Amino acid sequence: MEKDKILVIDDSAVQAEYLCSILSGDYEVSACYTARDGLAKAKEGGYSLILLDVVMPDVDGFMLLQELKSTVLTKHVPVILLTSLADVQYEERGLLLGAVDYVAKPFSPVIIKARVNTHIQLYHYQTEFREQAMVDGLTGVPNRRRYEAESIIKWQEATRFGLPISICMMDIDHFKSYNDTFGHPAGDQTIVSVAQTAAAHFRRATDLFARYGGEEFVAIFMGNDGPSAFQFLKTLRQAVEELHIPHNSPVSQWVTVSVGGVSLVPKVSDDYHTYLKLADTMLYDAKRFGRNQVVWCNENKDQLRER
Ligand SMILES: [Mg+2]
Repeated sequence: MEKDKILVIDDSAVQAEYLCSILSGDYEVSACYTARDGLAKAKEGGYSLILLDVVMPDVDGFMLLQELKSTVLTKHVPVILLTSLADVQYEERGLLLGAVDYVAKPFSPVIIKARVNTHIQLYHYQTEFREQAMVDGLTGVPNRRRYEAESIIKWQEATRFGLPISICMMDIDHFKSYNDTFGHPAGDQTIVSVAQTAAAHFRRATDLFARYGGEEFVAIFMGNDGPSAFQFLKTLRQAVEELHIPHNSPVSQWVTVSVGGVSLVPKVSDDYHTYLKLADTMLYDAKRFGRNQVVWCNENKDQLRER
């Protein structure tokens, strides 16, 4: 297993070297001697813990701590403050600013090691928890919470850069009767297979595909103009049917999906939720017209249908 990385920021090279010598057996330790270098290094990412000296010239540890906690790239990394200021007020200030712990100098190697171990373990639990909170437990694809948090950002980017963006909703056809016939474990497996097929389809860095709930999925993707988005969704529908998962629905002998989509170049005055709803209306139409098909429209509601 790879060693966790620790960043030591201390204006005293002697202190920094001492910490490195204590911790370098179990961890990969780097040292910086100014707040400025420390911030730049921390922003490179990959650290599981930062040990930060409070008393430094120019920018002190408290100011740097504030900066670290308000920077997206570093705000989750735990910071332990190191200081000789054995004063409760300082301790409070550090903890209020978001430090996880406070160690007064001179410190014993045993105590430093123990605290570092504890906080690195906690950091791993928290990281795992944050990731799980954004991932659908059954399929491993992003969940609705993540979709709702990130889709808006993608919409805003498309608006700012004048890029075409598409929203699609997708539903497994006659899924209730599938569950009734084949049982819930098989139903779950089918959801997983469909999700993985779709996730492999939406694989560009700017694509976001998520499980919306039950047998329903949602995706937002940038860069395709209307006709090419429609083609793209058609190949997705086909890929699901070609999994050849047996089903005896009125539509097909295989498991199939209905897909609704909308594409547009959003203007500042356009509301994202209006178009999410429009994608849902297209999905509804796809079901109404007989399922196992894609129904797509543009901002003028000109519709394209498969077959
Ligand atoms: Mg110092």
